[in-house]
Amino acid sequence: MYLKTIPFTIFSMKRLADYKDELHSCSKCGLCQSVCPIYKITGNDCTVSRGQFIMLQGIIKGELKMSKTINRYLDLCLKCGACTKFCPSGIDVVDIVALAKAEYFKLHKTEKLKTTVIKILLNILHFIHNINIFKPKSKVYDKKVVYFAGCGGVQNSVIKLLNSMNIEVISPNFSCCGFPLFVRGDMSSFKKYMDKFYFILEKYSNYDIVTNCATCEKTLKSYQKYGGKIVNIKNIFQYIRENNLRLELNNLQKVTFHKPCNLDNFEDIKWILENTKNLEYLEMKDFDKCCGLNGITKLSEYKTFSKLFAAKHNNIAESGASIVLTSCLGCEASLKLFSFGKYNVMDIIKFIEKNSNTKN
Ligand code: SF4
Ligand code: SF4
Repeated sequence: MYLKTIPFTIFSMKRLADYKDELHSCSKCGLCQSVCPIYKITGNDCTVSRGQFIMLQGIIKGELKMSKTINRYLDLCLKCGACTKFCPSGIDVVDIVALAKAEYFKLHKTEKLKTTVIKILLNILHFIHNINIFKPKSKVYDKKVVYFAGCGGVQNSVIKLLNSMNIEVISPNFSCCGFPLFVRGDMSSFKKYMDKFYFILEKYSNYDIVTNCATCEKTLKSYQKYGGKIVNIKNIFQYIRENNLRLELNNLQKVTFHKPCNLDNFEDIKWILENTKNLEYLEMKDFDKCCGLNGITKLSEYKTFSKLFAAKHNNIAESGASIVLTSCLGCEASLKLFSFGKYNVMDIIKFIEKNSNTKN
């Protein structure tokens, strides 16, 4: 059944020109400027949706060429989606920027080299996370789900927690959701990850797919926009709340939480933070503002991004917590890398499982 979608996904990938009407619907009101973290630093309209859309309209009309300068502006966009939530026309900047990047990608070998490096890193990550997978006790469970661990899923913690809710976990070898390639405009590699997902899923079409990474969840849900079949994707936080699983830590821990931009529903996580015994949740200022993760761009644009890290780090310090929890592999890696050892950063599921006596 899913196999039949593969040729379809190959030919149905949208192009920038398909977004002509959306770009035209931008009223140039400038409201996106008030929420864009990058515009607040640069003050340059070319780094926020409004200015980017004007440039991209020029490209579609053939009045502008997709230059290195325009590509740099596209790279500066965090793909945080803050402007989309605020935009009166609801224009999806993340998709548009990715497809604009795809136009540049087709013409420049250096971009291909960058995504080759990203793919190698993703494969290494995937390999590391697939060593030593926890084998649950053999028993009869009430329910069975398929776990999408992605390239950096915290497999054992997720499996143990789901088992503790009497849910059996099937963990196929899915690999990455493709998001890091999508945002760099490498649509061909993105499609390969997407097709692999549906190919593997062919065997498990009757089960819910569960993930613990906000970015994986959002990306898997977005597949249908690119010709993929609709499947039931859930995150583990929904399961914990739906099962009214009251967790308890072994010792009192003061934590704060960084909300990933790709996490659409914070309510389930908030419920966990507020209902776990021995866990004191200290909300940091701007907990839902982007951490500045922007793939390899943050290396070439370090000066700009360091201002975002600095703001996030100040907010973490002021929260009074010594541990920062999050639910996206990318945010976790970025916060860890730029914490310079000042505080601990952990995936929320891994943290809870490591600090409690979860029964499986
Ligand atoms: S908020 Fe939306 S409509 Fe207004 S300028 Fe920005 S992209 Fe255009
Ligand atoms: S997605 Fe984020 S960084 Fe990009 S233009 Fe919108 S608000 Fe700015």
